[in-house]
Amino acid sequence: MDKITKSEFKENVTDYLKVLYRREVSEATQQQLFQAVSYAVKDIVVDQWMATHKAYEKQDVKTVYYLSMEFLMGRALGNMIINLSANKMIKEAIAELGLDLNSIEDQEPDPALGNGGLGRLAACFLDSLSTLGYPAYGCGIRYKYGMFKQRIKDGYQLEVPDDWLKDGYPFEIKRSEYAVEVKFGGYVAIRKDANGKDRFIQENYQSVMAVPYDLPIVGYNNNIVNTLRIWDAEAIDTFNLDSFDKGDYQKAVEQQNLARTICEVLYPNDNHYAGKELRLKQQYFFVSASVQRAVSKYMEKHNDIRKLHEKVAFQLNDTHPTVAVAELMRILMDCYDLEWNEAWEVTTKTCAYTNHTIMSEALEKWPIELFSRLLPRIYQIIEEINRRFIIEIQNTYPGDYHKIEKMAIIYDGQVKMAHLAIVGGYSVNGVARLHTEILKKQELKDFYQHFPTKFNNKTNGITQRRFLLHGNPLLADWVTSKIGNEWITDLSHINELAIYADDEKCQKEFMNIKYQNKVRLAQYIQEHNGVTINPRSIFDVQVKRLHEYKRQLLNILHVMHLYNQLKRNPGMEFYPRTFIFGAKASAGYRRAKAIIKLINSVANVINNDTSIQNKIKVVFIEDYKVSNAELIFSAADVSEQISTASKEASGTGNMKFMLNGALTIGTMDGANVEIVEEVGEENAFIFGLSSDEVIQFEQNGGYNPKEIFNIDQDIRAVLTQLINGFYSPENPELFRELYNSLLENNGGERADQYFILKDFRSYEEAQKKVGAYYQDEKAWAKSAILNTAKSGKFSSDRTIEEYATELWNLNKVKVEL
Ligand SMILES: *Cc1c(COP(=O)(O)O)cnc(C)c1O
Repeated sequence: MDKITKSEFKENVTDYLKVLYRREVSEATQQQLFQAVSYAVKDIVVDQWMATHKAYEKQDVKTVYYLSMEFLMGRALGNMIINLSANKMIKEAIAELGLDLNSIEDQEPDPALGNGGLGRLAACFLDSLSTLGYPAYGCGIRYKYGMFKQRIKDGYQLEVPDDWLKDGYPFEIKRSEYAVEVKFGGYVAIRKDANGKDRFIQENYQSVMAVPYDLPIVGYNNNIVNTLRIWDAEAIDTFNLDSFDKGDYQKAVEQQNLARTICEVLYPNDNHYAGKELRLKQQYFFVSASVQRAVSKYMEKHNDIRKLHEKVAFQLNDTHPTVAVAELMRILMDCYDLEWNEAWEVTTKTCAYTNHTIMSEALEKWPIELFSRLLPRIYQIIEEINRRFIIEIQNTYPGDYHKIEKMAIIYDGQVKMAHLAIVGGYSVNGVARLHTEILKKQELKDFYQHFPTKFNNKTNGITQRRFLLHGNPLLADWVTSKIGNEWITDLSHINELAIYADDEKCQKEFMNIKYQNKVRLAQYIQEHNGVTINPRSIFDVQVKRLHEYKRQLLNILHVMHLYNQLKRNPGMEFYPRTFIFGAKASAGYRRAKAIIKLINSVANVINNDTSIQNKIKVVFIEDYKVSNAELIFSAADVSEQISTASKEASGTGNMKFMLNGALTIGTMDGANVEIVEEVGEENAFIFGLSSDEVIQFEQNGGYNPKEIFNIDQDIRAVLTQLINGFYSPENPELFRELYNSLLENNGGERADQYFILKDFRSYEEAQKKVGAYYQDEKAWAKSAILNTAKSGKFSSDRTIEEYATELWNLNKVKVEL
């Protein structure tokens, strides 16, 4: 295949402008330019995409299907350009057309089909799968509205719908030829077929057509393009509307409504189960479509369905796609005539489950009534899986009825999706070492005892292509100038930077790059927030979803305490600090929204108090998302990873900061443990209760925060400011609920269940050390360089290599054009 030349590329851009908009370059809007450039880039991508799939077919490869309700992709154009081998040519062509690549990239909406860490992990995994050359599909939902855009008005969060498809998304391709039907409701009739065999037939159901849209996932400089397949729902048969037979008409309208609602919107809950019927519809919709298509594709080339697991693996990203276990059983038995035992053998060799949290409010448990009404055949199958599993448990632990209570899939009127995922798959993995150990020792202890070989750990990772090469071009170039460019596809090489950590010239270069990135972020904040910040101050950053367990409240209470100290003692030794927050709260999460309002109220008071000479600034960055995340990580000095120990399964933001040379202030939680193991405790600031201590307290009914409140004047002063109108003179009661949550038991919820007051003084000590250490410029620079240098383990390439070899048994493919 001939490679496209620069002049051809330029011509393509001008041709697309003409065909799409009848415009010339000089007349086109930025959005039109973005579209035309994207189509020209897509031309290059599509050739590789087709070549990749030819190679996959020819080699009859095994493929992993990564089933996920969420893919938090971020913008594609810039990332695609840096991954393409034609990247230099494209950049020159764009410049020669007189265009600015950055402002064109800024036109792209962030495809935000995810909430936070779990969806972003899926996106990093797809990038790594393509770069490593592993055959893979991401399978998800084409939500019409993704994660809402956050606006801050008067300090409050407002949610604005994210109409990401309104101008058309240039990289997607509709694949109507692969549409499949998905059925809901009705009942299951048992009828004998011609051979006298019982057939289970769903009748009187409603159904929709699942129609896939494919997005290309471009590997780094290797001609490999995998596919993110997101499903949209369309009405099955619009002509039924012409039929005025009453029953048909009613049903036709209902089916239309069903199709319209299923993919309408992403639920904005992070780590929280709401139990909504529409959510279960979404889950079954995309799982059924993905599994049906994967099986059909397999059968196009093979004739023995009993060997499906030799060519197909389904990875379940959390319990959200767990109906896949029962859906695969249904297809194998009802469509391919396998007996139960044969179908079970195939299913349990094909499905694997990743656990992402131990938080009880995130556990998916569907009421039997809802589940069986919506998915009658699937429910029947789960009942049978449960029946057989309970017999197995009874035989293994005779007389121990607690085992059934703790392990049954259906119990107490509910279908427990985690239990189904564990029983129906061959693997259960946690996402960081500590998290996996807690699963084995606490949350899933009984399952670990019963299925010890299923349990394993895959510590999360992030892609260095997006979070260093694209997000921090200055540092990326510097790293390459020191150690060459192998780090781009093998991050273990970044360790070669360690020898420069003590070199004063390198330290200056490194900190100068950090400074320029801080100036870039300060400009963004000036433009978007109208707040002026000092790029010489310490940028102390906490960006992540707003959640009580992540303890943004601990951070802002500490800021309030610092402010009280500075007011009392203006001459106090204190290095200027900018506290930067970014966080979306789930739309219905009242306390999380109150914390956002508190941060903004504190910012308002502190930023306008001239008496503290700008020593503290507080900034809340509106609409935290992947595109501004890239600016934020590159500019951070301090990475706030302060979750209550045991609650954050892994975290991945922590890894993005580390890669960009920020020092972590954090608890021994999630992947922080492994980060500190790599970089050394002397290059991080660790504080707070350990996970064992937290679990101990929890098992003993918590602790008494009032003891701390009564003894500790400073803490009492800060808490009192929550209820005396200090930060909310217009409504002194505004933060009463936050105050109460720290001091009072509330129903089943313990006072200060996230140990904020318990950890406060130890956090303060760690923060003091941060301030002191920053003033030792050489020591800080050395630690910053070492954070980057020791981040090699946290590439998602390493994680995917582990999944591919230990769980999926995939082979790498090479594609020549
Ligand atoms: C990485 C990332 C997250 C996850 O952050 P944590 O600190 O691990 O919770 C969430 N949102 C965005 C946009 C991200 O890039």
